[in-house]
Amino acid sequence: MMMNDASPLITVLVPVKDEEDAIRTFVDRVGAVLEALHEPQGWEILFVDDGSRDNTLAAIMAAHRTDPRVRCISLSRNFGKEAALSAGLDHAAGQVVIPLDVDLQDPPEVIGTMVARWREGNDVVYGVRRNRETDSFPKRLTADLYYRAHNYLSADKIPEHAGDFRLLDRKVVDVIRSMPERNRFMKGLFAWAGFRQAAVEYDRVQRNVGTTKFNYWKLWTLALDGITSGSTLPLRVWSYLGGLVAVGALVYAGFLVLRTFIHGGDVPGYPSLMVAILFFGGVQLLSLGVLGEYVGRILVETKHRPIYVVRETIGASLQPMAG
Ligand code: UDP
Ligand code: MG
Repeated sequence: MMMNDASPLITVLVPVKDEEDAIRTFVDRVGAVLEALHEPQGWEILFVDDGSRDNTLAAIMAAHRTDPRVRCISLSRNFGKEAALSAGLDHAAGQVVIPLDVDLQDPPEVIGTMVARWREGNDVVYGVRRNRETDSFPKRLTADLYYRAHNYLSADKIPEHAGDFRLLDRKVVDVIRSMPERNRFMKGLFAWAGFRQAAVEYDRVQRNVGTTKFNYWKLWTLALDGITSGSTLPLRVWSYLGGLVAVGALVYAGFLVLRTFIHGGDVPGYPSLMVAILFFGGVQLLSLGVLGEYVGRILVETKHRPIYVVRETIGASLQPMAG
């Protein structure tokens, strides 16, 4: 993509859903951090309003009027954070793009360090949470298990405890934009893209306003998306398991035949029958379910629908839309 002279150096990309109380604080604090960098090429804050039903858009509008470097694209409905991030990457004008949550759990002060590491020649500088004490114990545990499972199964290894807070060079942004899949598991896409990567550690704090938009069900869905979009191992597992069970069943059948020859027929084998039926039933349902997960995703991909729909844009885009 051609970057014109008006392009800012940094785009801070902020997906928001129902965050009216968080906008002002965010713009003030992040704006101050960005100003303090004294980058001659400047910066922009790009909000993606992900179908908010409260006054989030009005709050962003107000912030835009006081500082035109605050821009926003508003989606036609809630598409989810991953889609909102994709929308933001498509509309970001910066030479580097930094996705950041509006709740300021990730300290914006780290941006300075990220830019410094970028100048040293890194294309991706991802933030790693040094402690997750602000997350509840079950969340930490499930996150931990998830990262392990994902990295064991998937070819796209994602760095553990790295969130979406990271710096992306324009090169990387354009690669991500060129990926055609509808299912946007961002961490997986970032990992797939490669490039020179560096980590910066930081401490994560409590959400200061509003509430989390991710319950365990949403996180579970995200985890499934992550694994099924990056790995086909769960599909193959069933062939192996099926083979194993079949061999076991054959051996057992041989044993039964032999026993009948030696001892004669005994009491009808109700327990063993029942066990076999239930076991095979379970295994088959499970493998059908796994197949279904993948078939469902194929369906979504083949529809070729857009990842998101823009309803309104606030603040002039500084670049042509086409990649
Ligand atoms: N978010 C979004 N769309 C959604 C859900 C969340 O754009 O459907 C935004 C949300 O407003 C916030 C960011 O994604 O800026 C992270 O959400 P949250 O802080 O609730 O997640 P957590 O930190 O609890 O994982
Ligand atoms: Mg949060």
